[in-house]
Amino acid sequence: MSRDYYEVLGVPRDADTQTIKKAYRRLARELHPDVNDHDPQAEEKFKEATEAYEVLCDDDKRRIFDTYGVDGLRRGGGGGGAGFEGFNDLSDLFGTFFGGDIFGMGGRAPAGPPPGADVAVELVIDLKEAAFGVTTDVEVELMDTCRECGGAGSKDPSAIRRCVDCDGAGRRRSVRNTPFGQFVQMAPCPTCRGTGETITDPCPECRGSGRAMRVKSLSVDVPAGISDGQRIRLTGQGAVGGRGGRPGDLYVHVTVRPDPRFERQGDDIVYIQPLTMVQAALGATVSIPTIDGEEEVEFRPGTQPGETRVLRARGIPHLRGRGRGDQRVVVNVMIPRNLNQKQEDLLRELEECCGADHYDPKPEGVFHRLKNFFTG
Ligand SMILES: [Zn+2]
Ligand SMILES: [Zn+2]
Repeated sequence: MSRDYYEVLGVPRDADTQTIKKAYRRLARELHPDVNDHDPQAEEKFKEATEAYEVLCDDDKRRIFDTYGVDGLRRGGGGGGAGFEGFNDLSDLFGTFFGGDIFGMGGRAPAGPPPGADVAVELVIDLKEAAFGVTTDVEVELMDTCRECGGAGSKDPSAIRRCVDCDGAGRRRSVRNTPFGQFVQMAPCPTCRGTGETITDPCPECRGSGRAMRVKSLSVDVPAGISDGQRIRLTGQGAVGGRGGRPGDLYVHVTVRPDPRFERQGDDIVYIQPLTMVQAALGATVSIPTIDGEEEVEFRPGTQPGETRVLRARGIPHLRGRGRGDQRVVVNVMIPRNLNQKQEDLLRELEECCGADHYDPKPEGVFHRLKNFFTG
């Protein structure tokens, strides 16, 4: 390496030790493998930064470097790479650094027994259930408490002994030396795998783990107003953890089966009401389905295609807060086809006596409403 150590750490030439230390810590954090999954050079860069740190924090080496550069250090370093006396095993140092949690970035090996896994399950409900809520059962296969031993892991509960390696704590201290001094790490005890106990007579069903796979039926309260694709979290209802570990969560992914009659837009329901040409012209009262029953709606004579009627608060209840969305009823006017001679004659007669003043070529708002309907 013939790099400029000041450049490597990104510090000015007159930086004091404190600044150099800070710069090194920042770099080490950036090169943390949890952050830098895809940088294969992270370890190389870390070595380089460590070398720079070592040299610049040592008054003698820094003076040599300032005067003669890296070559000066090589000549005067007395064997081996410059400034590496204390770090023969760099990858070990790397592991010490990043395996622990000295930067508070979340350790990879939390102390204590392993927590249970989160489990996901799909639930399909219909639109009415989504609108008004439903309490239903879901079947889910997950790691559950062993029924044979009640989760103790031992055939005979009195045969459980305290782990001698960790004295029942489930964790063990390990001390590592690093450039910043000693770091104490707490790691799960490998002997008892964090439980603090030794089982001398393991349960044959779960072989001492206290857990077994089984299909479980769980009750789910689906709140009124839920939408397709939303999920419900049941805290602590996922897989059970290792003995003493906290359970995972159960995520219920909700799929709302579409209702061919209705189109849901947020908490509003859009419904298309077909009227015959004659019903639209003469006016009509029709019974319209809503998510909770029928409703009579009167259309005035001369109703135009695309006209919209709003049935207030007949849509989906709001998931948060009170009230409901609306149901928007959009009129579609149906034109008859396959007419016989008599029907054709009647329509021609109508056309002859029905002048332009009976028609509105651009009924107010129709196109606007259509646009609204299609774009929501
Ligand atoms: Zn068991
Ligand atoms: Zn132990």
